[in-house]
Amino acid sequence: MAQMRLVVVGAGGRMGRALIRAVHDTDGAAVVAAIERSGSEFLGQDAGELAGTGPAGVPITEDALTAFANADGVLDFTAPAASLWYAELAAQARIVHVIGTTGWAEGEDAPLKAAARHARIIKSGNMSLGVNLLAALVRQAAAALDADFDIEVLEMHHKHKVDAPSGTALMLGDAAAEGRGVDLNSHSVRTRDGIMDPRKSGDIGFATLRGGSVIGEHSVIFAGEGERIELTHRAEDRQLFARGAVKAALWGFDRKPGFYSMADVLGLGQ
Ligand code: NAP
Repeated sequence: MAQMRLVVVGAGGRMGRALIRAVHDTDGAAVVAAIERSGSEFLGQDAGELAGTGPAGVPITEDALTAFANADGVLDFTAPAASLWYAELAAQARIVHVIGTTGWAEGEDAPLKAAARHARIIKSGNMSLGVNLLAALVRQAAAALDADFDIEVLEMHHKHKVDAPSGTALMLGDAAAEGRGVDLNSHSVRTRDGIMDPRKSGDIGFATLRGGSVIGEHSVIFAGEGERIELTHRAEDRQLFARGAVKAALWGFDRKPGFYSMADVLGLGQ
């Protein structure tokens, strides 16, 4: 395969810069355009210089339409409203769209399925191999343990993160619910404060910590009578998500249009 031509959107963001570095380090892929929204302080800057990989000859622009028309794929870790718009453009251009964006309200991502009739969309709340393996282990543990084991998902991220629980925590909650054969939405407890009814058997609880520069830590706790199982993943470098996203883009290059997950990319199946 010739070089896969990739566009990085949200190029000035923490993950945007990590994506530019990851593509730079990957054989068979190149950043051909970098996009920021209009008014961004990064417009006009060289994408490689901003990401710390040296001059790339790719200035950051706001013209996603032209960029997508001349690319094979787009790497997108931005915000839900932006990702929906980029999915429409990716469908028009019939290219690969890797979406790492989190913070989706329930049902908000439904239009992505329509876009996936023409684009190859790969979406995951976490692009790391370790977390996707963790989700598979959580599904298995939840299926093996009966409802006497209370399931709690605990996560911690840096102080800048705006959505909670994290996309990864929700992904792990979903895996636990699937293992138990229940729907997460009707069994999840997102907040606890003050005097409440005691915990209901079968609930899946979430707890969120924010602070400092933590890249991302997730634990799924299965608490039984007299014993507790804890499955934990700690991300130590956000490059790991960026590398996963580039791997997903390369994987999607010669797929049919469709809506895929990182578990598909990694062959972890459901
Ligand atoms: P960030 O530093 O705030 O970067 C977000 C980027 O997206 C910024 O460049 C921002 O531009 C741009 N953006 C936001 N809203 C936009 C809009 N409506 N239109 C166009 N561009 C827009 O955040 P981050 O830490 O990189 O995280 C970005 C997303 O990736 C978050 O949802 C985060 O949870 C997720 N994430 C996912 C994974 C994974 O593995 N799936 C891993 C890490 C992070 P402005 O600065 O101009 O707003």
